[in-house]
Amino acid sequence: MDKQTQVIHAAFQHPDAYHSLSMPVYHTAAYEFDNATEMEDAFCGRTEMPDYSRVSNPTVTYFEQKVKLLTGADNVIAFGSGMAAISNTLLAVAASGKNIVSSRHMFGNTYALISGTLARFGVEAKLCDLTDIDAVESNIDANTCCIYLEIITNPQQEVADLRALARVAHSHQIPLIADTTMIPFTQFSAKELGVDIEIVSSTKYLSGGATSIGGLVMDYGGLPGFGKRMKTEMLLNLGAYMTPHVAYMQSLGLDNLHARYLLQSANTQRLAEMLCTLPGIAKVTYIGLKDNPYHALAQSQFGATGGAMITIDLESRDACFRFINQLKLIRRATNLFDNKTLAIHPASTIFGNFTDEQRREMDVLDTTIRLSVGLEAVEDLFEDIKQAITPI
Ligand SMILES: *Cc1c(COP(=O)(O)O)cnc(C)c1O
Repeated sequence: MDKQTQVIHAAFQHPDAYHSLSMPVYHTAAYEFDNATEMEDAFCGRTEMPDYSRVSNPTVTYFEQKVKLLTGADNVIAFGSGMAAISNTLLAVAASGKNIVSSRHMFGNTYALISGTLARFGVEAKLCDLTDIDAVESNIDANTCCIYLEIITNPQQEVADLRALARVAHSHQIPLIADTTMIPFTQFSAKELGVDIEIVSSTKYLSGGATSIGGLVMDYGGLPGFGKRMKTEMLLNLGAYMTPHVAYMQSLGLDNLHARYLLQSANTQRLAEMLCTLPGIAKVTYIGLKDNPYHALAQSQFGATGGAMITIDLESRDACFRFINQLKLIRRATNLFDNKTLAIHPASTIFGNFTDEQRREMDVLDTTIRLSVGLEAVEDLFEDIKQAITPI
């Protein structure tokens, strides 16, 4: 049976007392036991019975099981945010004296986590060009604990070769960890490309229209003991598990993720092609465009769709501000993959607290506008962009 069908009809672990058709939201902190032995078995992990919602909750478990079905992961762990998923993963993998090989092209908070927060605990960030396999190889040493990357960097939209990175990682017996937020796991299999640990900010495509903040970690078994450490040590000691209400909303989002993604991605492809014809735009960057340098690699890894993020470059920072101010339909907001189309000037917002030099190193340009394309009619989006670009 098709995975999509299976996910939509996924059964609960235990039947609901009232035969509820959708998974109830178990808003409870704790669970009661009939006797001391049952209690001991649950607390010592010998049964699946939940004991406390910091580590286990039926509604969250149901959501995790559905993601497991779609991804084929050995373990799926849901967190309170994408950043919680990333920080808990890196805290499980790294240790004082170890280093992480990664890139300067990274989500701003992940960059700050790796190069700032983790650095305070003695974990070194070795940042290099992940599209240059020789550079990656030469940065790995005996203390490297993982290669960490984003599959399409934001806003540069750089795509690294996952199969090649997996080969390098595995030849050094270290895991390849990938943040795959940019293309949903309904569209491609990170596991088949050699990724050992996949991380998703479920706030984005998955939540079903910016309903809630969440994160997911998929463990494909490439690092022995990782899944167990996440479920016992990290969830217990750091306390960043997803809440049941969020799991309920994101479970609904998961059911229609595939349909929404295909439409958003098709919209983006058409919009990108239309924007290439518009005077006043210096450059349109989208991996779905045939002349994009990463087009062929992206297609070989993620299939025919290019996702719903696009950037346009205008002549100056002032032109970008004028454009943002002139928008009538497209919303001025951060976030990605909402049902509504969103626009933001990354250099002055998401990367606003970095220095000019850091922004230069990260290739975050003053002339770039990022668009996250939603489910509206493409013609309406094009009209709005056209009128916003026309000089006043
Ligand atoms: C948004 C985002 C994150 C952080 O996720 P939150 O859910 O906002 O904590 C991490 N990585 C990428 C690529 C993102 O787009």
